[in-house]
Amino acid sequence: MSVASIFETMEYGPAPESKEMAEKWLKDRKPNLKQFINGKWVAPKSKKYMVSNNPCSQKKLASVPLSNKADVNDAVNAADKALSGWVKLGGHGRARYLYAIARQIQKHSRLFAVLESLDNGKPVRETRDIDIPLVARHFYHHAGWAQLQSEKLPEYKEIGVVGQIIPWNFPMLMLSWKIAPALAMGNTVVLKPAEFTSLTALLFAEICEQVGLPDGVVNIITGDGATGAEMVNHPKIGKIAFTGSTEVGKIIRRATADTEKKISLELGGKSPFVVFEDADLDSVVEGVVDAIWFNQGQVCCAGSRLLVQESIAEKLYKKIRSRMEKLRIGNALDKGIDIGAIVAPVQLKTIEDLVQKGVEEGAELWQPSWECPSDGCFYPPTLFTNVAPASLIAQEEIFGPVLVAMSFRTPEEAVMLANNTRYGLAASIWTENINLALDIAPKIKAGTMWINCTNMFDAASGFGGYRESGFGREGGIEGLYEYVKLKVEEEFKPEQKQKEVAEKASAQKNGLPTIDKTAKFYVGGKQQRPDGGYMQNVLDTKGNVIGQVGEGNRKDIRNAVEAAHAASKWANATAHNRAQVLYYLAENLEARADEFAERISSALNQSTRKSMQEVEASIERIFIYAAFADKYDSHVHATPYRNVTLAMKEPLGVMGIVCPNEAPLLGFISAVIPAIAMGNTVVAIPSETAPLLATDLYQVLETSDVPGGVINIITGNKDELSKVLANHDDVDGLWYFGSKEGSTKVQFAAAENMKRTWVNFGRNRDWFNPKHVTPEYFLRHATQIKNIWVPYGE
Ligand code: NDP
Repeated sequence: MSVASIFETMEYGPAPESKEMAEKWLKDRKPNLKQFINGKWVAPKSKKYMVSNNPCSQKKLASVPLSNKADVNDAVNAADKALSGWVKLGGHGRARYLYAIARQIQKHSRLFAVLESLDNGKPVRETRDIDIPLVARHFYHHAGWAQLQSEKLPEYKEIGVVGQIIPWNFPMLMLSWKIAPALAMGNTVVLKPAEFTSLTALLFAEICEQVGLPDGVVNIITGDGATGAEMVNHPKIGKIAFTGSTEVGKIIRRATADTEKKISLELGGKSPFVVFEDADLDSVVEGVVDAIWFNQGQVCCAGSRLLVQESIAEKLYKKIRSRMEKLRIGNALDKGIDIGAIVAPVQLKTIEDLVQKGVEEGAELWQPSWECPSDGCFYPPTLFTNVAPASLIAQEEIFGPVLVAMSFRTPEEAVMLANNTRYGLAASIWTENINLALDIAPKIKAGTMWINCTNMFDAASGFGGYRESGFGREGGIEGLYEYVKLKVEEEFKPEQKQKEVAEKASAQKNGLPTIDKTAKFYVGGKQQRPDGGYMQNVLDTKGNVIGQVGEGNRKDIRNAVEAAHAASKWANATAHNRAQVLYYLAENLEARADEFAERISSALNQSTRKSMQEVEASIERIFIYAAFADKYDSHVHATPYRNVTLAMKEPLGVMGIVCPNEAPLLGFISAVIPAIAMGNTVVAIPSETAPLLATDLYQVLETSDVPGGVINIITGNKDELSKVLANHDDVDGLWYFGSKEGSTKVQFAAAENMKRTWVNFGRNRDWFNPKHVTPEYFLRHATQIKNIWVPYGE
């Protein structure tokens, strides 16, 4: 092509990035790559290998070990052995290693970028300018957290050996999101990359070697889903951090339900990209390109649902189509392309099938006129209009370059459409009216909100989902909590005596006639009879009947959840108002302190003086959370762009709280009050052995201006009722303080709807010991963080 004709057509020529270094790296490691266990390069015990292909050409790049159970075991044992030394090194020592890793990644950044593009098919422009710089930033940022651990998180310690399972869409970036915080907090790691994209993880292991990281601190094993499952089931792994499909996330949650393994799950999404009529449409078009064609749309938070205000919909579609016509697809190592290849034929087939379904469902398909290259896994950018909100393509994660568009008329309708999904990972809002944007941001249920921007990520900001997009955060201080546990947890004791009493009580159900108290439920601010019409005896610790309470069933829970939803305005009450209500509650409890002390004495057969201590501790605890109601502040992350990132602490919504049997008043107050202080509404199941302390509270709640429905109380069999709460799709979070078996059931049932749970596995805290009930810990479990990126500054 002559220079003159280039000026005539303004066509791009090829701009290939050299793959020489990456190919040499691969050649030097032929015939088979090895995995990195205990600081050594080892062949798999399985003697089996998987093939890693270049998605742009379908040609083989390398043979990668397919690890089996024995390999996983070796890696976990190595990590376990390395743990104590890594912890003893202290924050500063670990910071130095993380810093050294960050430096080495920067020094080898081009090799990482090219190898990543070869293996994954994503444009080198992205790996070079986005993925790898963010990887380095993650290690730098977490070197800082390692340094600051003893100052910022003094009450916490490492979890132990952490198993990390990552997907293929951002192989190195996901590795850094997982490994950097884990190492910073003193954990050791076994990480498995996805079978399609193992190469850069092995290059990373070489970096660990180069910086002299102690043997066993980082172990990289390669393999497939079965290898991942071996990690999930390994008894020495204390935490699983997973990013991938919601389907596998559910499998992992069920598999770990009866263990005390901590898990964090970053799952799928169907994120809305909301455009109001006053938005700058040219910026919107570039935003759309970034939202859905970045990384071929294989992005968990891709803005895959375009929601446009009706008045500008056709105009915007036209602009988008014209931009799509100009997008360039091709070899990932061509620096001038916008879209690379889909990771593998199986993923390409999934995309093709879902697009076909969209056409069959009657949506209007549009693709550019140009042809995709035929020698690799390419799929053209695709726009669907005339899409029904309930259709498959509007609901399912396509994980490809496919945008589905729908229109709305009013902001309320936009919010309804945006939330019409089982996911809640991210959203972006486009409008020149900042008031409108900040009005909409709290209403959309998603962990990250971008205003007039999209796909912004940084190590200083937490990232993670609401609803079926999973739980846990990665990045920022919120991400660190995923890799630590409270030191005092080791002091919690197994529950026994109370359980025996509960069993005795249920054995004598409807037995004795002498009763002096019959309590109903408390639902929507009113006393309600049990739906089933059954009552059960309440016994004191000597087995004497001291009253009766209703026996709740599924329908009672359903009514209570409805009442809790109807009271959701509580979340919008100002924190000051919520504090006032709580102070008033404490005041009214104080006025009836003698009565409550007597009730505790009769339930627990103990002195009134001792019981009075529980009442006084309960009053003080209400004061603590009244104080925190307007002091558990959100904060602003210092992300390095033209943004401020508001890390807003939001209530979970409707929470089920299954209270401990011990300390029947203090346990109830300590669990329920932090939840409502943060704006949640609650369905509480009180102590099974001494429920009258909760049912006595009805009048106190009424006289304290606690709005009807904010606290609902259902008595009955704790484990049965908690299972109903765990299964209930409209319960957003569930705390369970009870037995190990009950905890397991809750975890297992909640896997289906990805409900946030917090269970104690039968180990009891001392509710009187302030260290066991650190308010910050309870408040963190009662909230979730939404990071809102707002344009700011120059
Ligand atoms: P998966 O969820 O299957 O894979 C994610 C990781 O989990 C991989 O390392 C995988 O191993 C591993 N894995 C698979 N099965 C198990 C198991 N039973 N126990 C433990 N680990 C397991 O995602 P896919 O790669 O199959 O992609 C399927 C769909 O998932 C995509 O179409 C997309 O919709 C979604 N997805 C979402 C991502 C996100 O970021 N949220 C990322 C990737 C996919 P291996 O790959 O070696 O089989």
